[in-house]
Amino acid sequence: MTNAKTFWLTGLSGAGKSTIAVALKERFDTTGRLCAVLDGDAVRTGLCADLGFSPEARSENIRRVAHVCKLFNDNGLTVIVAMISPYADDRRNAQAVIGEQRFIEVHVATTLEICERRDPKGLYSKARAGLIPQFTGITAPYEAPAMPASLLDTASLSVTECVAALYSLA
Ligand code: ADP
Repeated sequence: MTNAKTFWLTGLSGAGKSTIAVALKERFDTTGRLCAVLDGDAVRTGLCADLGFSPEARSENIRRVAHVCKLFNDNGLTVIVAMISPYADDRRNAQAVIGEQRFIEVHVATTLEICERRDPKGLYSKARAGLIPQFTGITAPYEAPAMPASLLDTASLSVTECVAALYSLA
């Protein structure tokens, strides 16, 4: 078994998952550790382009990505997942697929208020206007992890500090 891990970053849209994932990958790149980022937006343009945002579709989305993580980890690649993954059961199933020793659950725990203020993709204003149904935090639930390996509050931690916290878990 390789020492490859899956960092599973969960949190609301705009919480900082993608930003932290890319910065963590850069950190791994400098040390020569093979690593891939699986970003929810990218996944949904290809591998999961056929899926919507119902609870069932979100579960399938997570299931597919979890199996990709397992394949990558089996081949020695560390994976950083940046996906809202709002349902605790889906994340638990992902952990079962990937393996308990490899799965590192990270809650990017930025509050809805801050995410909405940032609104980096303009999605919250669209959701508030009723233009996006089933939007996590507004019209769809987010189930926070009960016992994440790491909890990052980006209101008080810089991107660099978040990366340092995760790097120490690798
Ligand atoms: P997500 O992937 O969770 O939807 P993004 O990473 O796309 O979120 O967007 C988060 C936004 O918050 C970016 O504009 C980023 O620059 C900003 N931000 C501010 N402080 C932080 C921080 N400490 N960590 C991560 N992102 C931050």
